[in-house]
Amino acid sequence: MENPYQDAIKQLEEARPYLDAPADMVEQLKFPKRFIRKLLSVKMDDGKIRKFPAFRSQHNDARGPFKGGIRYHPQVNEAEMKALSLWMTWKCAVVGIPFGGAKGGVVVDPKTLSSGELERLSRAYMRVFAPYFGAWKDVPAPDLNTNAQIMAWMVDEYQKIQSQKSKVKSQNDESPYAVITGKPVALGGSLGREEATGFGGSIILKLLAAKLGLKKRHATIAIQGFGNVGYWFAHFADKAGFTVVAAGDSKGAVSVPKGLNPQLTLACKEEKGKIASCYCVGSVCDLRHGKAISDDELLTLDVDVLVPAAMEGVIGIHNVQSVRAKAIIEMANGPVTEAAAVVLRKKGVVLVPDILANAGGVTASYFEWVQNLSGYYWTKTLVFERLGEIMEAAFAAVWELAQEKKVDLHTAAYILAVQRVADAMMLRGHRAEGKGNF
Ligand code: GLU
Repeated sequence: MENPYQDAIKQLEEARPYLDAPADMVEQLKFPKRFIRKLLSVKMDDGKIRKFPAFRSQHNDARGPFKGGIRYHPQVNEAEMKALSLWMTWKCAVVGIPFGGAKGGVVVDPKTLSSGELERLSRAYMRVFAPYFGAWKDVPAPDLNTNAQIMAWMVDEYQKIQSQKSKVKSQNDESPYAVITGKPVALGGSLGREEATGFGGSIILKLLAAKLGLKKRHATIAIQGFGNVGYWFAHFADKAGFTVVAAGDSKGAVSVPKGLNPQLTLACKEEKGKIASCYCVGSVCDLRHGKAISDDELLTLDVDVLVPAAMEGVIGIHNVQSVRAKAIIEMANGPVTEAAAVVLRKKGVVLVPDILANAGGVTASYFEWVQNLSGYYWTKTLVFERLGEIMEAAFAAVWELAQEKKVDLHTAAYILAVQRVADAMMLRGHRAEGKGNF
């Protein structure tokens, strides 16, 4: 697979000719400001201690505290962490929320752990990284294979550490919930955070469809990945009147030309363990009205909009020539490699980049952080209303810049984001710091 960090650097290079920023600053932006490696020691259910490599890549905090999720995956590695942390910086800048970018992860297959082991692993992560976290320093959140329960264990661990510290040093964190977002609503979480990434993506879909002249009911959508992001995207797209004709997870996909019902498909996936075993319409769940297809087939379906919503690198040089969609909305982080993006551009496929398309999640995280700091909690309607406003403004800004500079949406989003970060660095009196701190 192509290296995501090399891709992240190439994307920055593409924006460079359009930037008003000193060359050494752009050079500096290729590297995380701080990269932290730790080894977590976790007691397993059999009494043995197992070690898990764990990371936090803090890329940039010129516009506000570092921000970004923590993922649990066996393929987590340093290059991936660095790339994802750069993407978080650009994502927060594109939507104009006052955060920088970071990403964390643990090399683990969480599906092989018991709930107790998962809790001890999550608490261990927070223990070793707590000195780097804080409401005004670095604010983590969920990402691949992590969820609100994991954030609850982590915030609880953080608060324990804070209260132990305060006994000795008479110091306490004034906003102990604002250290982490994506928490359960009962523990300082925000209404709407769960749906936010998919909801934000559906706003982008509506705006894009209007620009491309796609008629809702006739516009066909294929979604790869039916986890939190893919499911909620399907839900809101369907509600808005689009036809979701295919959906898949890591074990295969279904094609349903008449359009699938996202809610029943999710219920069936949960019951049968995989989407490929189901197709649902009305109250019926079976294979009659749709057919099972492979994940690769889903990516090459002749649809209006393809929505990769799972992992990075799924559309690469190996399959890009077979992509037939008119547009791609990147709901995962980095699902289209740089080499593939170049080919898509030549083919005339419209590519809405991840840093814009999936920014709804971190925007709702920002709302959660604001609510925690102020102690005033919003209704779900207000969350969605403000999220809609931010996504619409970001899409309009990227679209206009693309027209003005005569570039594609991907490049325009990068120009907008990197320029905003560079402006903040210049206002701070930028000094070259060499190649990051490793
Ligand atoms: N993990 C999500 C992302 O990649 C959300 C990050 C956050 O809420 O901080 O955008």
